[in-house]
Amino acid sequence: MTDKRFDVLVVGSGPAGSIAALVLAQGGARVALVDKAAFPRDKACGDLVGPRGVQLLRDLSLDSPDATRVSDMMVVGPTGNRVRLPAPPGRTYPGFGIVERRSSFDATLRHAAIESGAEFFDGRADEPLGDDGRLDGFSLSSKMRIRADVIVGADGATSRVAEVANLVDADRVLWGFAVRTYVDEPTELPHIMFWTPVRGAAFPGYGWVFPAGEGHSNVGLGVGVLADRTAGRRAARDLDAFLEHALRVGVLDHRRPVQPRARPLGAWLKMGVAGTTPARDRVFLVGDAAGLVNPLQGEGIAQAMDSGRAAAVAILGGIELAPDRYRAHLARTQAGYLSTTASIQRSLLHRPRLIAALTRILTAPGVGRTLAGGWSIVWNNLRDGASPSVATGLAATAAGLGHALTARSTDRRWIASHLTDSPQ
Ligand SMILES: Cc1cc2nc3c(=O)[nH]c(=O)nc-3n(C[C@H](O)[C@H](O)[C@H](O)COP(=O)(O)OP(=O)(O)OC[C@H]3O[C@@H](n4cnc5c(N)ncnc54)[C@H](O)[C@@H]3O)c2cc1C
Repeated sequence: MTDKRFDVLVVGSGPAGSIAALVLAQGGARVALVDKAAFPRDKACGDLVGPRGVQLLRDLSLDSPDATRVSDMMVVGPTGNRVRLPAPPGRTYPGFGIVERRSSFDATLRHAAIESGAEFFDGRADEPLGDDGRLDGFSLSSKMRIRADVIVGADGATSRVAEVANLVDADRVLWGFAVRTYVDEPTELPHIMFWTPVRGAAFPGYGWVFPAGEGHSNVGLGVGVLADRTAGRRAARDLDAFLEHALRVGVLDHRRPVQPRARPLGAWLKMGVAGTTPARDRVFLVGDAAGLVNPLQGEGIAQAMDSGRAAAVAILGGIELAPDRYRAHLARTQAGYLSTTASIQRSLLHRPRLIAALTRILTAPGVGRTLAGGWSIVWNNLRDGASPSVATGLAATAAGLGHALTARSTDRRWIASHLTDSPQ
């Protein structure tokens, strides 16, 4: 065993960990960045980075040369009705996102972190190191022991750091599982699809068909399962039936898999921060480890990068107040939205008939066109920093209504007590 000591150990080199390591290293910290996977590594994902993520990449001068721009999004209702959600620029983000395969996107970010001075180590963070309940580092599967003053858990939804630091209440988590594959057919716009495999009863999640470059599409299906992780296998089981549905409603023309990447790949999502304490003492959770995925639409890359940067800035400002500073950032940027959307997800998942009815109404031609602008802002959590418009007003009304409907929910109380000092 070789022993090494750093200022900060970042476990996980996905978007959250690489951005945290990059900002820490640029700020002068000695940083160890650890990942169990050999890079470039694949990651189950729709590969779409939203406008806030694009802005963060710009802020950090990180180019993504292989990325394709996407802006408007098509929502497809259970009967095949379509609503085009516009993507206007806001005051603090551009009017487009990007798609890039995660194997390439994540490798670019990891490389940038190393270029900034972070030292990379291959290996799974296995056994925790430390005395008296204080987490001091990890021994790695690669026979290294890495200790640090501060530990950043950027190790994804099933975080080992969160587990050993006792920062997750598994019964409260809003779990999801999603599976994706690539098909040999281009798509111009990202499509989000609501589906009722049984007449009148919606699938408890949604499917997507996103552009994937090179004449391909990224097709996937995600299911919300609350705390019952055994139900996650439904996404993989129903993927073929969902592909048939996408053919039937004309979103795909055929379903020829792309070789050799045809094998569907799945992963867990931890949504709405519910059940997770994002920072305590010298341990910080960022990205999926902190459960920052949007409970409405499964986006998590932008939040992963943003939380990685925020935790790094908080740590660089001095460790004593760093957990408070990080929690305050999450409270300001995430708590209001996540409190509402986590509560909505928890109450709707058990009501497949209500979801079916709602998605039919929302995608009915007149209704969908009228609501599209506001819907786009709410769905993608783009209200903060949006330019003033009728759509922004509509989104504010929807947010107010959502807040009122979920004011007494247990998720709102839980998130308020773990991110802020006063109820949201
Ligand atoms: C099928 C699917 C589709 C999705 N589509 C989208 C989308 O289109 N857009 C979007 O914004 N979000 C999407 N998401 C969510 C998005 O993938 C995540 O929010 C994002 O990857 C979070 O980044 P992260 O850095 O927190 O974690 P990850 O990207 O999961 O990275 C975690 C890293 O930690 C490493 N690791 C784990 N455990 C250990 C350990 N013990 N020791 C060392 N290393 C470890 C892993 O190898 C990995 O490299 C999707 C998720 C799924 C499952």
